[in-house]
Amino acid sequence: MSGPPQRTAFNKVKELLIKPPVLAYFDPKKPTIVEDSSSYGLGGCLLQEHKEGLRPIAFCSRSLSNTEQRYAQIEKECLASVWACERFDRHLMGLDSFTLYSDHKPLIPLINSKDLSETPLRCQRMLIRLLRYKPVAIHQPGKMMVTSDTLSRSPAACSQETSNLHEDVRFHVSMVTSSWPVSDGKLRQLKEETQQDVSLRTAINYTVMGWPTYKQDVMLAARDLFDFRNELSLYDGLLLRGDKIVIPYSMRKEILDRIHDGHLGITKCRERANQGVWWPGLSKQIQDCVAMCKLCMQKKSAQQSEPLLPSTLPDRPFQRIGVDLCELKGKHFLVSVDYFSRYIDILPLQSLTSGAVINKMKKIFSQHGIAETVISDNGPKFAAKEFQQFAEEWNFHHATSSPHYPQANGRRKEPCDQPKNFYAKMTHTWHCSLTELLHFLH
Ligand SMILES: [Zn+2]
Repeated sequence: MSGPPQRTAFNKVKELLIKPPVLAYFDPKKPTIVEDSSSYGLGGCLLQEHKEGLRPIAFCSRSLSNTEQRYAQIEKECLASVWACERFDRHLMGLDSFTLYSDHKPLIPLINSKDLSETPLRCQRMLIRLLRYKPVAIHQPGKMMVTSDTLSRSPAACSQETSNLHEDVRFHVSMVTSSWPVSDGKLRQLKEETQQDVSLRTAINYTVMGWPTYKQDVMLAARDLFDFRNELSLYDGLLLRGDKIVIPYSMRKEILDRIHDGHLGITKCRERANQGVWWPGLSKQIQDCVAMCKLCMQKKSAQQSEPLLPSTLPDRPFQRIGVDLCELKGKHFLVSVDYFSRYIDILPLQSLTSGAVINKMKKIFSQHGIAETVISDNGPKFAAKEFQQFAEEWNFHHATSSPHYPQANGRRKEPCDQPKNFYAKMTHTWHCSLTELLHFLH
């Protein structure tokens, strides 16, 4: 059943089949397009727009290595894009812009946004390599990219790669995984528990085979991971989101306790978690855990009452020092702190007169030199006329913090509170060793 148009088309196809595709010369001024596909292998095609339509400049194709075959779907697609661009390096390098067609929709925002934080681990390194070029990624359904699709389905044998892409990705992965704050034993346990975890096992399958398009088609067990599907990948039996391990359900409580250990408040807890672990709802669980913890709350209110304003670092030691008086068990001390080195002097006061304070100040100056600036609060010992006279005679600038805003003196308040606690801990107050003091200051 064919009329003249069909016959003409058939003849045209026959004609085309016996002719090789005529490659056009590359013209940097013409709009350039890279098509890539990933299937059994990788395929790519470099095209340019001519008056008569798109004309091919070059083709490339290769099979996947054993390791690459185990990549998550999105990683294979990313590999196809980066590999094709690198194969066409001499054409693409230096171009202000070119179009990169990919048939994998989730890859498009990863390439265009250049935000690597939530990207699957191996894609991170590949996309960094892609930063050399200026592609604008556009989604194109696979059926529209016949050439690269065909090339990826019957790829050329995996030739000796001149590019070091594979090594580079492997190195990046090992660098990230070795920085995880997890012991080898814990890592083994994580792998075992991941195997036992229905949700993670299902998500791993989807990550390898490709996720369903719609959330309602995802098995219930893995549905809470659907929204993160484009950030998931696999490493050595573990499921990863970006560069973090997705923790199996059975170990979440234990890990949450470790994150909360030390009661450092919500920000520090989140920072800790960010070093390598994640599960859906983790952020909210940290928030709840801290909100319900009395110790965390106590620390929070203590911190809020003494906010510290940063002060600039002086050029050298003992240029600017802060001084304060403190009392412990009926004894009084003059505490001085150097703004540069944070070196602390703690001198017992025989009496609470300006004269006694000045004497101890002289002792500090005799050891370290006279400071250019001495900062104190507006307490009576420092506000006294005697102290002002001392400042004039010894030629240093005496600055006081406002009585209403004593926290304006960022550095002084902070370390001066430390010795008080330190002394409180010492039962044999006077014979503390230097090492103990140094250890405490760390
Ligand atoms: Zn706590």
